[in-house]
Amino acid sequence: MIELENVCVDFDAGQGRHTRAVEGVSLKIAAGEIFGIVGTSGAGKSTLLRTLNALQQPSEGRVTVNGVTLSTLRGAPLRKARQRIGMIFQHFNLMHTRTVAQNVAFSLKAAGWARADIAPRVAEILHLVGLADKANRFPVQLSGGQKQRVGIARAIANHPDVLLCDEPTSALDLETSANILELLREINAQLGITIVLITHEMNVIKSICDRVAVMSAGKVVELGDVFDIFARP
Ligand code: ADP
Ligand code: ADP
Repeated sequence: MIELENVCVDFDAGQGRHTRAVEGVSLKIAAGEIFGIVGTSGAGKSTLLRTLNALQQPSEGRVTVNGVTLSTLRGAPLRKARQRIGMIFQHFNLMHTRTVAQNVAFSLKAAGWARADIAPRVAEILHLVGLADKANRFPVQLSGGQKQRVGIARAIANHPDVLLCDEPTSALDLETSANILELLREINAQLGITIVLITHEMNVIKSICDRVAVMSAGKVVELGDVFDIFARP
């Protein structure tokens, strides 16, 4: 489903020098997995995650999602491939001047949904994430957990195959985090969406991931079943 082959990412550091943020990462992630990437700040997790939807192109190596090599795509085919890949963020990234329903509808419009199909899909997906009664609220009127539910609704509305999660619970309290992780688990189990999640929190990995890659200084230094790598409590 997802294959990274020797992925390297360099950033220009000025004066003809560069920083290597990701170094020689090779991974295969199977359809239906909840795959975690853990590591301290600066380890390269976010950069690596962004190569999975071509927000970041690798300097070397290849990223293939669903048989499509992202690094070879441009223009319309790239946009189409990206629509198969949803993403959620630590700080939710909602549009503050739009209601909850409009935030979700926006992604469906962008994906080319017919106007008549949008409202029923928005209603359905808000029901699924437990926000049926918040459709006409604005993000500022919501709690952090509710905002992340909107982020999840927006990310999965267009039936993606993959959901990328960038520190999805790092801005939330413990109890709210547990509820959001439970929702992600349900989405994975019920909709069959493959989840790739990055976090600096070991507890997040232990609570929902099947397999984990540990990153340090741009490299994957450990890879395996969560159960084998970290004994569960
Ligand atoms: P993590 O998500 O694990 O905290 P990042 O992927 O954000 O790590 O960062 C990895 C390294 O790449 C860090 O050294 C960071 O400073 C550097 N980096 C990340 N993004 C950029 C960028 N846009 N330009 C230059 N350097 C960057
Ligand atoms: P915009 O100015 O962004 O076009 P609209 O008011 O037309 O805002 O809303 C955008 C879409 O959001 C609508 O086409 C509709 O499908 C959806 N929408 C708005 N409110 C709701 C709601 N309460 N329940 C479900 N869908 C809604």
